[in-house]
Amino acid sequence: MSKDVSAKVNAFMDKVIKKDPGEAEFHQAVREVTESLMSFLEENPKYQEAKILERIAEPERVLMFRVPWMDDKGEIQINRGYRIEMNSAIGPYKGGLRFHPTVNLGILKFLAFEQVFKNALTTLPMGGGKGGADFDPKGKSDNEVMRFCQSFMAELQRHIGPDTDVPAGDIGVGGREIGFLFGQYRRIRNEFTGVLTGKGLTWGGSLIRPEATGYGCVYFVEEMLNSKGDSIKGKICTVSGSGNVAQYTVEKVNQLGGKCVTLSDSSGYIYDPAGINAEKLEFVMELKNVRRGRIKEYADKYGCKYVDGRCPWEVKCDVAFPSATQNEISEEDAKTLVKNGCKAVGEGANMPTTFKGTQVFLNSKILFGPGKAANAGGVATSGLEMCQNSMRMSWTREEVDAKLHGIMKAIHKQCLQNGREGNWVNYVKGANIGGFIKVADAMLEQGLV
Ligand code: GLU
Repeated sequence: MSKDVSAKVNAFMDKVIKKDPGEAEFHQAVREVTESLMSFLEENPKYQEAKILERIAEPERVLMFRVPWMDDKGEIQINRGYRIEMNSAIGPYKGGLRFHPTVNLGILKFLAFEQVFKNALTTLPMGGGKGGADFDPKGKSDNEVMRFCQSFMAELQRHIGPDTDVPAGDIGVGGREIGFLFGQYRRIRNEFTGVLTGKGLTWGGSLIRPEATGYGCVYFVEEMLNSKGDSIKGKICTVSGSGNVAQYTVEKVNQLGGKCVTLSDSSGYIYDPAGINAEKLEFVMELKNVRRGRIKEYADKYGCKYVDGRCPWEVKCDVAFPSATQNEISEEDAKTLVKNGCKAVGEGANMPTTFKGTQVFLNSKILFGPGKAANAGGVATSGLEMCQNSMRMSWTREEVDAKLHGIMKAIHKQCLQNGREGNWVNYVKGANIGGFIKVADAMLEQGLV
């Protein structure tokens, strides 16, 4: 980046930071996009004159509300609920709900901002939003989770709808929570609509939605590798997390002939050099989705190594799939991965690499698939769920999977179109410019809104 461009990025960021100091993750996400876009904006003054970037960085609407509920002991608990309606230029607000004690306005704004670009890249008509609460589902009974979800939806229901805003899951919100949220929406509104995605199969859910983020991420990495005449086959992969995204990443890597050797949770990681095969994956699914236990149990059962309090990035690999949470790969971790010969990174989580870590990957010119491209398969399949709900029909597994695969290829193509630098592809730039153009053009055509 030239000195002049970098000064412009800093000037823009100074304003964003001054307006909302303390929202570090939001600043990080906006800075990454601004760095990718600044030269492009200089060459395309129409976007600058219309202040599109300034407008995109400002949510259309922010909702913040009280969520009172009663725990099993009869004690009243109060949490804070949010919905960030970031941008609806190309479709209804769309994005997940996160229930986690770390949730705050800055984190949800970063996620909603990322979602705008991600959703635009899917080729489907979806705007961007995100929501959630600082509620911690860990250690709560099913009844407590249900009471919390019902109270959360009692307020959220007045702001959402199948043509307005369509929430889904994210960290801490899976099939169980979507069920409780949908039940409450249907009861209060007396309507059965596709207002949430990630629903159960018998009440409007789509086949492949649970698998979609993980499968999509592996499809994206396979595209990146194919562009270099390589493939997942025979590759050693490290995966972080052990939730929905991580589980189906392992499944798809296995199907394509690669080998996953790690999984993690907030306590530590397991390292299984023999590979997490189908049988072991089934154990993980039962452990995490039904018993809601700790990943350490895997090491106890299969006699492999468990490393307490660390992330798996010190394990030598060909491909890394960070699939846990934001900023889980530090600058040091990124250097270690590159030094150990890592060829490709597919971000299954949202912004799992720190700003400096991303610079390490970009400077080393490995294949780096940023979250808003690599993990877009989840929301893309949510878009397919909305489509099936509108038509009041459902597609087969094969149909949805083929559509998902086609969408991941289309996203990869947009990254190539916008991110080529000589004979290397900067996927960060490609995804940011590709997503921006679609939303920006829609905003320009719709006037000053
Ligand atoms: N939470 C997922 C994401 O980060 C999925 C959102 C959705 O399906 O709406 O994209």
